[in-house]
Amino acid sequence: MCARCGTRAEGAPPTWTCSLENGVRQYFCDTCSRENLRSIEGRLDSAWW
Ligand SMILES: [Zn+2]
Repeated sequence: MCARCGTRAEGAPPTWTCSLENGVRQYFCDTCSRENLRSIEGRLDSAWW
């Protein structure tokens, strides 16, 4: 399930981005990954979005 838009996916989508935040793995779909690429790379917490 996408941590940002809530899109659900079966199993572990290989194209999704996995971001480790506060020791918790969070997955983001392709769309959200692109939109938040800078934030993810900057390791900003998703609460900022
Ligand atoms: Zn998403």
